[in-house]
Amino acid sequence: MTHPLAELQTYVGAARLQCYYSLWLKDNGLPHNSEAAMNKWWAPKLAFDVVKQCLLAHGHTGYDEDFPMAQRLRDVLGLQIGDGTAQIMKNIIAREATRP
Ligand SMILES: Cc1cc2nc3c(=O)[nH]c(=O)nc-3n(C[C@H](O)[C@H](O)[C@H](O)COP(=O)(O)OP(=O)(O)OC[C@H]3O[C@@H](n4cnc5c(N)ncnc54)[C@H](O)[C@@H]3O)c2cc1C
Repeated sequence: MTHPLAELQTYVGAARLQCYYSLWLKDNGLPHNSEAAMNKWWAPKLAFDVVKQCLLAHGHTGYDEDFPMAQRLRDVLGLQIGDGTAQIMKNIIAREATRP
């Protein structure tokens, strides 16, 4: 039960650093399309994974609509669509990586 939480905390820390790195690139006038796209596909997926694990950790209680986790799951799923989908972000990363 605790190991998934430890794993996700690790990933959240890494995603946060990736975001800071992208912002640092932008603040310094450096190219950041690829890094921004990495944040935009990974962080929403990670948010979904975190909420899903929270829901599962609470069993039936987590699934119950009396608790907010099912609604949170739907909320963070919207982030995987609303700010640009993962497929489009990966297209951007691949385009940048293969730019001649
Ligand atoms: C909660 C929410 C909030 C939103 N907020 C805003 C907002 O504030 N402002 C705004 O302008 N829009 C907003 N949107 C709209 C959102 O930007 C679009 O829904 C999103 O860009 C996907 O476009 P689409 O729905 O037309 O899907 P489509 O373009 O029809 O895509 C359908 C599927 O095909 C995939 N796909 C499409 N093209 C490719 C490709 N070339 N290569 C690989 N896969 C591909 C997509 O990844 C997706 O999985 C929001 C949507 C949601 C759900």
